[in-house]
Amino acid sequence: MNWITDKVLPKFKALVKKENSEEVLWIKCKSCDQMIFHKEHDSNLNVCKSCGYHDFMKIENRTKLLLDEETIENVKLNKIEDDPLDFKDLKKYSDRLKIARNKTNSYDAISIKYGLINKNPCVLLLFDFSFMGGSMGRSVGDAIIKAVDTAIEKNCALLIIPSSGGARMQEGILSLMQMPRSVVAIQKLKDKCLPYIVLLSNPTTGGVTASFAMLGDIHLAEPGAVIGFAGRRVIEETVKEKLPDDFQKSEYLLEHGMIDRVVERKNQKKEITQILDFFKSN
Ligand SMILES: [Zn+2]
Repeated sequence: MNWITDKVLPKFKALVKKENSEEVLWIKCKSCDQMIFHKEHDSNLNVCKSCGYHDFMKIENRTKLLLDEETIENVKLNKIEDDPLDFKDLKKYSDRLKIARNKTNSYDAISIKYGLINKNPCVLLLFDFSFMGGSMGRSVGDAIIKAVDTAIEKNCALLIIPSSGGARMQEGILSLMQMPRSVVAIQKLKDKCLPYIVLLSNPTTGGVTASFAMLGDIHLAEPGAVIGFAGRRVIEETVKEKLPDDFQKSEYLLEHGMIDRVVERKNQKKEITQILDFFKSN
């Protein structure tokens, strides 16, 4: 112990801590720019109290929101060879994976959980957009197959919550192969007559929309979520027309018969329970 560790270091740590905590005390809503106290944002399930914007939600928080807490089990993902094409753009793909893994503490852009939703057994497959934009590569394809196999083994429903920019370009053709792979996996579930529910969250686009994400028995979506294949600008340039403001939003898709319900986050567990109860009794 000396003057530096005794006096200076505690003051310095307090100063640094104060700056960091101030930085995360307030969050700016991505939709209406309202400043929101972060604890208030957390307690409101990351939904803006002013405009109802449904912000990203961490996988752990989503899991706790939907599954009965004491029943949650983690289903481990299989590890695979990381970079079979030895791909490099501005950075090496293997480096991008390392960065994403350190940032998210996850193996890839997806997690599988098993548990009860108000006593209904369910396998839950969640995408993490913060892991390389929730992009679908071989690992994500493997996870979808594993989630289906787990649901068949447990004889229960599968609930997928996508949040993805589409295929992972760093895996080239191998990422596109995950589209038919995931479709075949979902068909296996349907052959067993097990319920498959999709809760579309913001954004669900590209190859994910063009495969397993639009094959549910029931499609729910979060308010305001962008759901589509090609982006708005590409479509506008192709068809040479101005598209409506709410084009590719959940509410627009509901109006045009592409999805079944738009459900606010606070009501999702209740509504999914009703759906699972319905499947159980029929
Ligand atoms: Zn807002």
